[in-house]
Amino acid sequence: MRVTFHGVRGSFPVSHPKISKVGGNTSCVSLSVEGAPTLIFDGGTGLRHCGRQLMNKEFGDGAGEACFLFSHTHWDHIQGFMYFEPFYREGNKVQVIARASHDKRLQQVFAGQVESDYFSYGLGGLKADLSWRGVQEGESFEVGPYKISTVRLNHPGIALAYRVDYGDKSFVYMTDTAPYDDQLLGEGFHTRQPDTDPKILAQIETYGAEVEQFVQGADLLLYDTFFTLEQYKANPHWGHSTPDEGIRLARQGGVPRFYNYHHHPEAWDEDLEGRTREYQTRLGGSDLEIGLAREGESVEL
Ligand SMILES: [Zn+2]
Ligand SMILES: [Zn+2]
Repeated sequence: MRVTFHGVRGSFPVSHPKISKVGGNTSCVSLSVEGAPTLIFDGGTGLRHCGRQLMNKEFGDGAGEACFLFSHTHWDHIQGFMYFEPFYREGNKVQVIARASHDKRLQQVFAGQVESDYFSYGLGGLKADLSWRGVQEGESFEVGPYKISTVRLNHPGIALAYRVDYGDKSFVYMTDTAPYDDQLLGEGFHTRQPDTDPKILAQIETYGAEVEQFVQGADLLLYDTFFTLEQYKANPHWGHSTPDEGIRLARQGGVPRFYNYHHHPEAWDEDLEGRTREYQTRLGGSDLEIGLAREGESVEL
């Protein structure tokens, strides 16, 4: 399988000469296997490039099949949605999968961002055959030949990580999460204090263990490394993580390839490249490759 990075930033898209090597578009990654539907993780502004590439294949003839797997619906993960060219070719089949909220249907959530105050036309303007599926954290399901599982992440409003198993290979897409250590984010916000409800503390432990279990034996872990350790200490409630936590997860799970992803919008190329080299020297090794997700690049598994 081939994993391609189309957008690798978090929060908002950026353009600057100092980020020209890593890229400034927001979250979007695709996974492709010959003869199987294309999986697309998140639809940030990087989705435009992804759609363009797909139009050169069967999507250009209206015979493509894709499935979106959304971590959550914050702006940096959906902003490219309406700019996905395969949507405008009749015959293409696109399934949209995201976490089901308790009070709204999934389609309503996406329709909300294109109401007339925000966009020129609604979802009715899309010509492809769209289907919607809400999933719950912990749910497993199949899409074509792929086995897909999910786990709850530590993020305001809750985000989902996805694991794709195909043949003997597996890929984990895990972004927009804080470590499960001293806080619980989701519907509310709880920090670990001397008087914290023991139920909350137990949830932090349980969810943390589930995430560790989730990555066991994966071939590639793509992970939210938005923060440096110093930045994380200043803003732990933002729901983002660090390379240190991701590398710890990869090591405990025996994962041989770890890629930094969902970069801070103000992290320059030299910061990200220097940091990645430093982590590779200090914490990587022959059993763990520490890489940097760059727009336009692919990893073969
Ligand atoms: Zn994000
Ligand atoms: Zn988010």
